[in-house]
Amino acid sequence: MASGTFWMLNPVGLKVYAGKQATRQLHELNGKERAGVTKLREVLDDRLQEIKKAKTWKHERILTSPQDTKIRVQGAEGEFLNFCANNYLGLSNHPEVVEAAREGLRKYGAGLSSVRFICGTQTLHKELEHRLSQFHGREDTILYGSCFDANAGLFESMLTPEDAVFSDALNHASIIDGIRLCKAQKYRYPHRDLSELEHLLAHSEARIKLIVTDGVFSMDGNVAPLPGLRNLADKYRALLAVDDSHATGFLGATGRGTEEYCNIMGAADIICSTLGKAVSGAAGGYTTGPKELITLLRNVSRPYLFSNAPPPPVVAASLKSLDLVEGSSELRERLQQNTRSFREGLKAAGLTVAGDDHPICPVMVGEAPLAVELASGMLQRGIYVVAFSYPVVPKGGARVRVQLSAAHTPEDVNRAVHAFTEVGKNIGLIKG
Ligand SMILES: *Cc1c(COP(=O)(O)O)cnc(C)c1O
Repeated sequence: MASGTFWMLNPVGLKVYAGKQATRQLHELNGKERAGVTKLREVLDDRLQEIKKAKTWKHERILTSPQDTKIRVQGAEGEFLNFCANNYLGLSNHPEVVEAAREGLRKYGAGLSSVRFICGTQTLHKELEHRLSQFHGREDTILYGSCFDANAGLFESMLTPEDAVFSDALNHASIIDGIRLCKAQKYRYPHRDLSELEHLLAHSEARIKLIVTDGVFSMDGNVAPLPGLRNLADKYRALLAVDDSHATGFLGATGRGTEEYCNIMGAADIICSTLGKAVSGAAGGYTTGPKELITLLRNVSRPYLFSNAPPPPVVAASLKSLDLVEGSSELRERLQQNTRSFREGLKAAGLTVAGDDHPICPVMVGEAPLAVELASGMLQRGIYVVAFSYPVVPKGGARVRVQLSAAHTPEDVNRAVHAFTEVGKNIGLIKG
């Protein structure tokens, strides 16, 4: 073919020609739509209408700035104070983390173009797994692209129909989906209800019994009853798995998570967590625990075997974040101080903040329209928070969820408290 010559003479012309050809084919396709696609549009249109009617439509706000305590939003003037990220330690855009990612990119490239076991493992991945094992004091750790993947790969790999899994009713969607994929006997116990859980455990004759819970529940900011769960696990020879995504790096004096917060280090037999929240905020997830389990996961866990290795800049960002998490407790203390002054400020104003002593602060409102009013009043005052209502939370439990960060200044927190007080009065949530 003469295309080689053509390329040499006019490479740009060739690209334009090929592009036009492809666009023309698409245009022809658009003219006469395939029957299957027409049917799909019909069916989906009904479903989308239902979502709108149920008022559960998701609006994406588009940031034009990095993730931080002050953000810019497409289509809106000025800066917003951001109180709805999982950026607990303020590491998402921390200069040292960004620099480490840049260095990871420079030294190890943009990505691996491979899953881990073919040719997608670099020294960087092994280093992060080793660091995480040390951080949690566990035997071994397997890194995934996300914590969603970690949960999707755990249950199916370790449990068979001879085994049973006992899951808190309010566990994260990724745990629910991970359990769906496995063939074990499945039990759901009411949220944090130890006596119901005991009843289920006592009547189970399964070979392996696995209790699984979020360490911290993200809608309520409340903590799992780890001491009670550990007792039950011991009494019924069960295992305890904790998903500590909303705790790793910042809960407990040294950031070891829910175990440390509850003063029961080592309570969990298996920990899953994310690197997309407090620890770097970039992406990644992992499972840490007994070495035989981690070895099995490396051999059979499907999101690990069939999905690309985490990219080097992301892994490098997590490593640097762990340095910062372990190096000093300054960020944790600032986060704690911010959390305390926000919770106290709102209480003093006459508002109800649910949850334990955690930077997730759900401002309880009750009815859904009032929660929407509260959130939009805050937005008008330049403060970005989000309203949640049924079916994400129970009926009558509508709320505005606030998340504090170590990167918020005391003035940021005061501004939020004042704005909540003002808007709360305006919409009649605060009486008098
Ligand atoms: C956020 C979250 C996840 C998902 O983590 P990703 O790394 O973003 O996939 C899983 N479990 C819990 C409890 C979470 O809060």
